[in-house]
Amino acid sequence: MAARTVVIVGAGPAGTRAAERLVAAGLRPVVVDEAAASGGQIYRRQPPHFRRPPAALYGFEAARATAIQQAFDALRERIDYRPQTLVWHLWEGDAHLLNGASAERIPYDALILAAGATDRIMPLPGWTLPGVFSLGGAQIALKAQACAIGERTVFLGTGPLLYLVAYQYAKAGAEVVAVLDTAPPTARFRALPDLAARPAMLAKGLFYTAELRRRRVRIARGIVPVAITGSDGVTGVRVRDADGSERQIACDAVGLGHGLRSETQLADLARCDFAFDAVAQQWLPVTDADGRTSTPHVYLAGDGARILGADAAELAGRLAACAALRDLGIAVPDGEVERLRAALAPMARFRRGLDTAFPWPAHFAAALPDGAVVCRCECITAGELRSAALDKGAPEVNRAKAFSRLGMGRCQGRMCGLAGAEVLAAALGVEVSEVGRLRGQGPVKPLPLATGLPA
Ligand SMILES: Cc1cc2nc3c(=O)[nH]c(=O)nc-3n(C[C@H](O)[C@H](O)[C@H](O)COP(=O)(O)OP(=O)(O)OC[C@H]3O[C@@H](n4cnc5c(N)ncnc54)[C@H](O)[C@@H]3O)c2cc1C
Repeated sequence: MAARTVVIVGAGPAGTRAAERLVAAGLRPVVVDEAAASGGQIYRRQPPHFRRPPAALYGFEAARATAIQQAFDALRERIDYRPQTLVWHLWEGDAHLLNGASAERIPYDALILAAGATDRIMPLPGWTLPGVFSLGGAQIALKAQACAIGERTVFLGTGPLLYLVAYQYAKAGAEVVAVLDTAPPTARFRALPDLAARPAMLAKGLFYTAELRRRRVRIARGIVPVAITGSDGVTGVRVRDADGSERQIACDAVGLGHGLRSETQLADLARCDFAFDAVAQQWLPVTDADGRTSTPHVYLAGDGARILGADAAELAGRLAACAALRDLGIAVPDGEVERLRAALAPMARFRRGLDTAFPWPAHFAAALPDGAVVCRCECITAGELRSAALDKGAPEVNRAKAFSRLGMGRCQGRMCGLAGAEVLAAALGVEVSEVGRLRGQGPVKPLPLATGLPA
């Protein structure tokens, strides 16, 4: 068999299981991850000199974290692993890599994108103040460095991570002042039939909430965030309760987030077709059941394809590897693929339940004051975005980007793209699906000026 180069982007649960399956078939995949160690977001490893046991770091997921990390470590000699390496561009069958200031171009026969997700944020006045962290950022501070983001923290937004991170902070001994959820109080009950697809996950969610209550953490649902207050740092959060009354809650840090968004820029650079996903309320790359995209020999797995969580990411990683193997002419038993597909089915139902229980608060975009910052890299306000739509005639987000510089900065729209689209759609009075999505551009993240790029 001629040597085949399969590049996997991401060494989280999806990338690890994809690599494992390719190795089992006799290949030596290139596994690239910008992180210093494997594990991805959920099973992120602590720095080498930290000694917290898995149970302290990963809670209920300790056994799973250990299993996935050991699986990756067992592969180390049989894969070409590139830690601390960014895939910054894809171009005509080549993956462009950057490690420090040293760049490299790897032509691939197949490419598996397992790039995961990032926080999804609906801005509000004050969200760019020092002391405001995304929920993921707050969790990383705790998980990687054993640090809290403040002395008195409010967790604001919605989604399972809101309760999980608040619980993790409380358990670690930090003061959690309140958990303020934008989801309507009744949404959880409507979601129950779908959430029941994964009873163990549902039970974990209920446990986190019960533990927060036991620790006397204030939990409020159906709140409308008004502002994060302070001048050179956070001093509090102003919210409107479900009954319409407004109140100020004092704190010195805020963990903010409204679920996750799939990291899709590389799929865009690989020229994959996208379609609007009504459940995720996001444009996502189109794939078949096994992760094949519309671009030959490019596959998606894990949260980068659709937010289904870590267990689903493992299954999807294996499935994408099976699809790549088959397309390279390497046999894969039918039974294996069928089993993986069947195991994934309840995950999608559970996801639908989560989206019902913790809906993305799109309607807040219309009420965002003109002066509120939407794009924090370029400091573009909601008013400037509305003006791009109404005064300059931008009918979709890429035109609005050209007029306003929304999404043109360091994050390339990862942080502001989805909220910016909501502001634009509300200003134009159309569905968010109609204003399109910010197209990915290489480099997906900034490169140092000193980078010597390969020819
Ligand atoms: C901040 C955050 C915190 C989370 N915390 C939890 C939690 O506590 N519990 C839970 O159940 N779920 C959590 N989730 C969800 C969970 O992490 C995912 O469901 C799961 O990790 C998905 O696995 P994955 O392999 O698809 O992606 P990930 O685990 O996210 O792995 C993707 C990997 O790709 C790498 N990568 C991305 N882009 C590039 C690039 N261009 N070049 C090189 N490398 C790249 C990243 O460094 C990362 O290691 C969290 C998600 C996020 C974003």
